[in-house]
Amino acid sequence: MEKVLGKNRKSEIKEIEGFIDGLDVSGCYQCGKCTAGCPVAHLMDNPPQRMIRLVQIGAIDEALSSNAYWNCVACGTCSARCPRKVKISELMDGLKSFSIKKKMTPKDRSERNIALFNEIFLNNIRRHGRLFEVELVGMNNVLSGHLLRDTTKAPEMLVHGKLKFIPSNIAKKDMKKIFKNTVEKNDKR
Ligand code: SF4
Ligand code: SF4
Repeated sequence: MEKVLGKNRKSEIKEIEGFIDGLDVSGCYQCGKCTAGCPVAHLMDNPPQRMIRLVQIGAIDEALSSNAYWNCVACGTCSARCPRKVKISELMDGLKSFSIKKKMTPKDRSERNIALFNEIFLNNIRRHGRLFEVELVGMNNVLSGHLLRDTTKAPEMLVHGKLKFIPSNIAKKDMKKIFKNTVEKNDKR
């Protein structure tokens, strides 16, 4: 790899590896066990095994423009199945953080909606300390353009006392600390 990669490629691989403690993609020998166990591989243009290969050969732009890491549900099956202990799940997460840091927008609407949901979800938790579902669903529906999505479930949830119209705001301080030590620290990398 030393011989074929230019300096920029190598530093980009290092930058991505720097996002994930202990990630080393060089150990992968392409057995495919990660892809075979991935429950959403069929939704990915580049399934886990290929994503690792792209990073290995320094095709970072292709890896970053893939929809794979947006569709990853972080179940960890790939990492658990890997005989070489490659942290594939963490790589997917790292690519997500990396692309957010670089302000890259997913090219397809479905992946853009996943990115939007992630952002709304995290901001919701950051603001209230605990999920405030009404705000989450309302903001997500308005901003994604699916105004009526899931609204038919509201009456039944109301009857069973599952919808609260005022946020609990418990654990707000603790959550702020957690964000400071995780998300905000990551943003500064
Ligand atoms: S399971 Fe591990 S070694 Fe096999 S292809 Fe996936 S990352 Fe590579
Ligand atoms: S963590 Fe992501 S890539 Fe790995 S098996 Fe689960 S969904 Fe697939």
